[in-house]
Amino acid sequence: MNLVLLLLAFVPSPDQPVPFLFGKPPAAGAHSTFDLRHSTLLADSSHTYDVRFYRLDLDLPMYVAGYNGRELVCIQSEVPSLDTFSLDFDAMVCDSVKRSGVKQTFTTPSGLLTIDLATPLPQGESADLDIFFRRESTAQQIGYFYARPPTIPFAHGMTVGCPRDNHYWFPCYDLPSDKAERGIMMNLTVPDTFQTSSNGLLDSVTPNPRSKTQNPKSFGTRTYWWRHPYPICTYLMTFSASRFSTWRDTVVGQTGDTVPIIHYLWPRDSAASRVGFQNLPDMLEYFADTLRFGPYPFERFGFIPGYYGFPWGGMEHQTTVMLHASYIGGGSDATQAHELSHMWWGDMVTHVGYADVWLNEGFGTYAECLYMGHQQGRAYFNTYLRGKVSSYISRDRSFRMPLYNPPWSQIYDYGHIYCKGAVVEHMLRFVLGDTAWEQPGLYYQALRAYRDSFPYGTVSTEDYQRINEQVSGMDLDWFFDEWIYQAGYPKYSLTWLREPAGDSFRIITTLTQQNGAQAPPVFHMPLPVRVNCTGDDTMLTIRPNASPEIDTFVVASYPQNVVVDPDNWVLDSCYLTGMAEELSNPPNMVFKTRKVFARNVFVSHGSIGPTSQLLVKRRLHK
Ligand SMILES: [Zn+2]
Repeated sequence: MNLVLLLLAFVPSPDQPVPFLFGKPPAAGAHSTFDLRHSTLLADSSHTYDVRFYRLDLDLPMYVAGYNGRELVCIQSEVPSLDTFSLDFDAMVCDSVKRSGVKQTFTTPSGLLTIDLATPLPQGESADLDIFFRRESTAQQIGYFYARPPTIPFAHGMTVGCPRDNHYWFPCYDLPSDKAERGIMMNLTVPDTFQTSSNGLLDSVTPNPRSKTQNPKSFGTRTYWWRHPYPICTYLMTFSASRFSTWRDTVVGQTGDTVPIIHYLWPRDSAASRVGFQNLPDMLEYFADTLRFGPYPFERFGFIPGYYGFPWGGMEHQTTVMLHASYIGGGSDATQAHELSHMWWGDMVTHVGYADVWLNEGFGTYAECLYMGHQQGRAYFNTYLRGKVSSYISRDRSFRMPLYNPPWSQIYDYGHIYCKGAVVEHMLRFVLGDTAWEQPGLYYQALRAYRDSFPYGTVSTEDYQRINEQVSGMDLDWFFDEWIYQAGYPKYSLTWLREPAGDSFRIITTLTQQNGAQAPPVFHMPLPVRVNCTGDDTMLTIRPNASPEIDTFVVASYPQNVVVDPDNWVLDSCYLTGMAEELSNPPNMVFKTRKVFARNVFVSHGSIGPTSQLLVKRRLHK
C-alpha cells in the first residue's frame, strides 16, 4: 500500500498521524487477543486448520450495494479431529453451510462464522465447505465499497480489505499468516452492461440464458470467470465491477519469459493511461532484472482505478493493483514503482503478521527510491531518499516507536513504517558493502536468497535477518537490534582537530551521541567521513563503540575540512564542530585546541574546517 500526499482534503499528510482508514482495529472475536508479535506464530500449521483454496461466486446487481454469494472454502485439518472451526465474518448474513450437500450447523458469534462439522475431519485431510451468504445493501461500507461516483456515469463496486477487513465481504481466515496455497477462483455475475476485474487472468465470460428454473433476475447478466492459481492471503484478494476499457501490453524478460500487462480502467481514462503508464514496462524490466529482484512472480500485472474516496495512492492487490484515480493520467511513476515492487515483496513473499509490516512497506518505499534514482540519476535519488528521512525525523519528533511490532493503530505510520523502513534497507545495503551506483551486489543477492527461501510464503523479521547473515557471513544482531527492534536514530556531535605527524597529519575525532529516550545510547552504525585535504581527499570510517568515541586517523596531506556521510548512507543528524585553531602555516604548524561557539547555523550539507568560528548544526538528509 502506498500513502501519497495528494491535493485533496481527505488525504492525510505523510507527516501527520495517519488515521486508521480501513475500518476498525480487531474487535472481540476470532483474534480478540490480537498481539502483533504473536501473529508470527500463526503460520499455516499453527491454527486448527489450513485454508487451501477459496472459490467465490458473487451475484452483483450493480444497482444496489448488496450482493448474494456462495463460497467454497477448502480447509485441511491441523489437529487430530477437527469438529468445529471458525472463519472471520462480519456485517453479512449466512443462510446455510453444506458439506458434500449435507447441511452443517453453524453460529455467527461476534466477528465469526463458527461451523460444526457433522463428521470430524482427521488431521491432514481436507474438506470443502459450501457457504451461502449475502451482504445487505444497508451494510456499512467496510471491505466492499459501492458508489455511483459523480465523476463517472455508472456504478462502481470494489473490495479493499487491507489489512483485515476482508471478512466484511466474504467469510475467510483474515490474517496473512495463512495463504490459500492453491489460489482462488472468483466468478462474478453482473448485468451485461458491466465488466469485472479480479486477481489473475480472466478465463472466460459466459452469458446467462433466460430460464424459468433459474433466478429470473439472472437473465441479461454475464458471469466473468477469474482464476489465480497462486498462493494468496486475504488482504491481497480483490474484485471490481464497473464499466471498463481494457488494454494490454507485454513485457519480455531477460530469460525470455513474457509478462502480460492488462489494465481495467474507466473508458474516460483509457487514452490518458497510455501516457500515465508509459514507464511501467521499464519499471518491470528494472525490477525483474536477474541481478535485482529476479523474474516477475505472477501470470499478469495491471492497474484498476480506486473506489470513489479511496484515500491512498495505491493498493498492491495480487496482480491487479489499485491506483488512485487521479494518478492514472501520469505523474505517478513513484507510486507505480512502489506497488509493482510489492508483487515480489509483500505479495510473493509476505509478512507473516503485522509486527513485521515494515518488511512490506520498507521494501516498497525503497524500491520506489531505487526506480526513481534509476530514472532520474543519483542526485535525484539522494534528494528523494532525503525526503523519506525528513518525513521520518519529522514524525519521530511527535511519536517514537520501533519499526518492529507497532501498535495496531500505527501499522501504516508513514514516517516510521514506510520512510524509516526504506532507509533501513538502504543502510543494510551499506553495511553489506553493496555501494556501487546502479551495480547490484550483495544486498540484492540476499534479496534473491530471501525470495528463493520463502517463495510464495510468509516471512518474519528474524527470517530476513537470518538470510542476510547467511549470504554476507556477518553477524547482524546489532543492526537489527538498534534499527528495527529499538526506536530512534543517532543524533551525533562530531568534533575534530588536526596536528602534524611527521610528513603526514593526524586527525583526532570525538563522536558523541545523545539519542534520546527509547533509542539505543550508542548506534554502532559505521559512519563515513570525508576529509577534504590539500592533496587527495580521504574517506574515513568511524565505528562507534561508545559515546564519546575518540579515534585517531592519519592522512597524507593537509586536512582542510570534513564532511560527515557525504554519500547519504546513514539516517542521522549531526552537529559538526571545528575545534582547533591554526597558529601558523604549514609546514611549521603549531596547534592549540580552542573550542569556539559563536552562533548556530542550520545547513543541509555542511562541511567545516577546524579553524571555523562557527558551530554548525548540520542536519544530514534534511
Ligand atoms: Zn506499499
